[in-house]
Amino acid sequence: MKNIFRTIFSLVCALNLANSAAQTAFDYGADVNEQRLINASEEPEVWLSYGRTYDEQRYSPLEQINKDTIDKVGLAWFADMTTSRGQEATPIVVDGALYISTSWSNVWAFDVRTGERLWEFDPEVDRAMGRKACCDVVNRGVAVWQGKVFVGALDGRLIALDSQTGEKLWETQTFDPEMNYTITGAPRVIKGNVIIGNGGAEYGVRGYVTAYDAETGELNWRFFTVPGNPADGYEQNILFDAASTWTGQWWNLGGGGTVWDAMAYDPELDLLYIGVGNGSPWNQSLRSPGGGDNLFLTSIVALDPDDGTYRWHYQTVPGETWDYTATQHIMLADLEIGGEDRRVVMQAPKNGFFYVLDAATGQLISAENYVPVNWATHIDLESGRPVENPDARYDITGTPFIVSPSALGGHNWYPMSFSQNTNLVYIPITENYMGYVRDSEFTVNATGWNTGINLARGFGMVRTAQGLPEQGTFLQAWDPVAQEEVWRVKHEIENGPAGVLSTAAGLVFQGNRSGEFVAYDDLTGERIWSTLTQAGTMAAPSTFEVDGHQHVALLVGSPALPTEGPGAAAATTLASTNNSRILVYRIGGEAQLPRVPVNTESDVEFEIPQIDVPYEVIASGETAYNNACAVCHGSNGISLRPDTYPDLRRSSRMISEDEWNSVVLEGELLDNGMISFANLLENGEAEAIRSYIISLANAED
Ligand code: CA
Repeated sequence: MKNIFRTIFSLVCALNLANSAAQTAFDYGADVNEQRLINASEEPEVWLSYGRTYDEQRYSPLEQINKDTIDKVGLAWFADMTTSRGQEATPIVVDGALYISTSWSNVWAFDVRTGERLWEFDPEVDRAMGRKACCDVVNRGVAVWQGKVFVGALDGRLIALDSQTGEKLWETQTFDPEMNYTITGAPRVIKGNVIIGNGGAEYGVRGYVTAYDAETGELNWRFFTVPGNPADGYEQNILFDAASTWTGQWWNLGGGGTVWDAMAYDPELDLLYIGVGNGSPWNQSLRSPGGGDNLFLTSIVALDPDDGTYRWHYQTVPGETWDYTATQHIMLADLEIGGEDRRVVMQAPKNGFFYVLDAATGQLISAENYVPVNWATHIDLESGRPVENPDARYDITGTPFIVSPSALGGHNWYPMSFSQNTNLVYIPITENYMGYVRDSEFTVNATGWNTGINLARGFGMVRTAQGLPEQGTFLQAWDPVAQEEVWRVKHEIENGPAGVLSTAAGLVFQGNRSGEFVAYDDLTGERIWSTLTQAGTMAAPSTFEVDGHQHVALLVGSPALPTEGPGAAAATTLASTNNSRILVYRIGGEAQLPRVPVNTESDVEFEIPQIDVPYEVIASGETAYNNACAVCHGSNGISLRPDTYPDLRRSSRMISEDEWNSVVLEGELLDNGMISFANLLENGEAEAIRSYIISLANAED
């Protein structure tokens, strides 16, 4: 009955559209149903879901913007965001409206043609949630379905909004707010269910993914990725098997396995694929002291989308101990392999190997490293398991080891793209490494950073090591059949990838941290077009066609403004501290970004105080700093993202104990996400941290 009603509703809408000429206003109805999502590949005018189609290829058949016309592409309109933390969302476009989410889980809607802002929704996330977000208070996008826009808020609420007005229709809390969970990923809508996971595996949680009824918000099913306490019984039968791969009392530590990003769906096989994260704590010897594979950590798991029943899994890193999540982009494609047509699942997870699996069974077809890797020599195709380098298991050997890739991964959440034009996958990659040092003083700390490794010593190890290879960020074209690189482009700034889009016109679009938006030739990597964005980019673009015009939209805003590369000089306007904006391009676009001299006034000049405290105080300050502050403000006081997380060695707040305590203990800067740490710091620790910072500042001076 419901389906018939939907069909009639669709027909009425179609008639309305047919009767209305282009000048009639859109009703922003987000008239998205199951058939429309399944057939999204045949509707290039819209961008209906996070990866455009259920197979998440991020490939568009649109060709109006091509190698001949791209010189005429300009900015059609732009809008400044009101939040200035990292921006990671892919713009969703349907029925005349463009929907994005921003940091702090705000949602904005615009008219695609004019850039008119239709509405804004602010879920008013408690800024104290910032402490629980390992990797900034970001949000990667919304989902749309039958007049509704869904956002997963950082504080765990899944919220349904009216697509026309932004009015809240329902909301439901998806995790225990007392626990250190967050949501940063985009929901997906499959068969009337909104599917959402969560993050928090750096803070001692247990991962799961949940399906809610899109109309009512009612919970339909939940799949836990790791077993809980055996004494409580298991929520799913498959967890009995999974529990046999764990040892010790992992449930007291959470176990990890959060589903914080990747999902894909194959309507023919009727399988939902989820990417499962790292162990919590990272250090396996602490988490599961007798070893074991620790299922389903770092796995791709296929589920029945109707009830969440387990179908198959492939585990990328048995006994994970390096934060090697398998939450990175999962995509489906049809490839000819060995003369056979295969439906495959592809993933380039953090661990550095590119995997091709059979989509129906999970059988490993091939795996080769796409970046330099030293934790394993190769993946054994017979067993499907990595052949490890025993030295890399710092947790077992007790000897620190510099591992490639690092916990940032050879590829992280930044979306890749599979081109049906070239059959290549375009991957935003980083060649990197980090030192893993077992934390000899690890204690369970359910309220804080909880990895079981000594990050500060690991950084120190890398700083003093000799002969390490150069690190760098690249756009890589990868042949998933031959399992080899075809071309790569080097970016100007290390560790700064951004998401990718490819089109039938032979173009690959990607922003960068140097303040440019670039189109490359999909066969050669040749740079064909670029424009300056006045901001760094992390998010992926989307493309769509409205009123006969192909548009390309990009949400810009990375933790820091470009300070090097071609776009740095152009970042001369300050919309916000990182120039967060939605930029929408089309042929003939004539909008100009504002040119206002940037306020170059640096931090207040002040004299670094001199102190005379015993070494033990500074040492205890260092320990407290590493436990409470380093995750945001950086190891050894060196902030890697000073626009977002001030470099405390240059903060005038250190001058007096009162000034310092006002921020650290009294929460003066709560609105910026800097909560009071009064309940987390022992007596005198705040002052010890201040002493430590002052000692660093003097050493720096
Ligand atoms: Ca992680």
